[in-house]
Amino acid sequence: MIPTHIEHIGIAVKNLDDSINYYEKVLGLKCYKVEEVKDQKVKTAFFQVGQTKIELLESTDPEGPIGKFIEKRGEGLHHLAFAVNGIEDSLKQVEEKGVRLIDKTPRKGAEGLDIAFLHPKSTFGTLTEFCEKKS
Ligand code: ZN
Repeated sequence: MIPTHIEHIGIAVKNLDDSINYYEKVLGLKCYKVEEVKDQKVKTAFFQVGQTKIELLESTDPEGPIGKFIEKRGEGLHHLAFAVNGIEDSLKQVEEKGVRLIDKTPRKGAEGLDIAFLHPKSTFGTLTEFCEKKS
């Protein structure tokens, strides 16, 4: 199990429109999609930067994971997502090496990816996501 690249970087923001504005007007990137992921109580906005995406996350519910994160730690870097080949097997392999998993089996994330999170207590503080494009 070796990640192939950084698929995206997740950033928690309070206001999607304001932050989209920054990435577009200041950095000159183009938001190519806004998508709500009801399951995770977030609205997401995506930017492509080379092979990697920036995923902005605005909470749609203060009790959701991003709502709680911002309440506790404020806006900013939220998670790092590695693209892997064979997500189920990758999860099994890191679990065997002692990593605590948040998701034992993959679920559907934004962009039609299969995703699963590793617990930040097992990854030196960085909430880590594995994702795989199936199809
Ligand atoms: Zn993500």
